[in-house]
Amino acid sequence: MIFTRKQRKYLSDWAQSLEPWTPGELPRGRRYVKLNTNESPFSPAPGVITALQAEAAQLRLYPDPACIALRKSLAELHGIKPEQIFVGNGANEVLAFCFAAFFAGATVRGADISYAFFHTLARLSATTYQTAPVLSNFSIDPGSLCGGAGVVLANPNAPTSLALPPGALRHIAENCAAHGSVLLVDEAYINFGGESALPLLDTLDNVVAVRTFSKAYALAGQRVGYAMAHPALIEGLHKVQKSFNPHGVDRLAQATALAAISDTAYTERCVAAVRAARLDFSNGLQEMGFSVLPSDANFVFARHPNHQGEALQASLRGQGILVRRFSEPRIADWLRITIGNNEEMGKTLNALKSMM
Ligand SMILES: *Cc1c(COP(=O)(O)O)cnc(C)c1O
Repeated sequence: MIFTRKQRKYLSDWAQSLEPWTPGELPRGRRYVKLNTNESPFSPAPGVITALQAEAAQLRLYPDPACIALRKSLAELHGIKPEQIFVGNGANEVLAFCFAAFFAGATVRGADISYAFFHTLARLSATTYQTAPVLSNFSIDPGSLCGGAGVVLANPNAPTSLALPPGALRHIAENCAAHGSVLLVDEAYINFGGESALPLLDTLDNVVAVRTFSKAYALAGQRVGYAMAHPALIEGLHKVQKSFNPHGVDRLAQATALAAISDTAYTERCVAAVRAARLDFSNGLQEMGFSVLPSDANFVFARHPNHQGEALQASLRGQGILVRRFSEPRIADWLRITIGNNEEMGKTLNALKSMM
């Protein structure tokens, strides 16, 4: 929509300076095979539906602002204390609170090919975001992130799907600790592979690991995420939350997240199915001549030497399949394809074969 200059001026200078993130396309009308936003191909655990119905009867009442029951349960799951856990309205909100609590007005370093939302959050929180280039194989050189500033990483990384090698996180975290700065690790895909920052919490008070219920727990529509860190950092996140939206995590979100983590067997089965499909799909792509990065996530990042990414994406779309592509020059020919169910992946391989 086009607005007049006068209308645009109603926005504060600050609001005008924001650079909002563009989410993956939400299809309307036609039914697409949706492999563009890394959602789970499975339903949430059966207990989630029961919990949702029971909690609906309580909606007259405000939710627990401290999320005590869910934090206790998450603490048991991860072998830490409830004071080491912060729950927010989706991991993206938790990340926004982390930027506000740990980085606002300062400098944070990250990789040039990483989760694009970090740029948006830096803008929102008046943080200077310095990026170091990833290597030619898209892996992150831990040394390139070391220095005085805080560090933000996604591990496994998005959109590359690559996890850091064992030990790399500790190296970065200890370097940050030596400079008195925070290491923030976005672990949205950690259920599918890679080494978590969680063990570092035993000895380091400057590490924050952020998780989401949107991917492995199949609850993207519900909006729940959480951070794990030293109680002093968690206290900072609560301070920001209470200054912004004190009842930020609604009753249904708390109840469904609790139900989802209480059925670990179900989640493990879903994750195992995604990992198996990921292997088959990657092999199928490689047989067609694609380069596929070794994925530790619920998506793959792939490129064909003889076909432009934009053309492949458009052609898949024409055949009813949505995948994601980013326009930065280094990765413009790469497709990020979510691992769906076997039928969806078979359909996608066939569609690609017809273009080769
Ligand atoms: C999906 C994703 C998130 C967002 O999680 P929500 O809980 O849905 O807000 C955060 N970081 C990365 C890298 C993601 O891929």
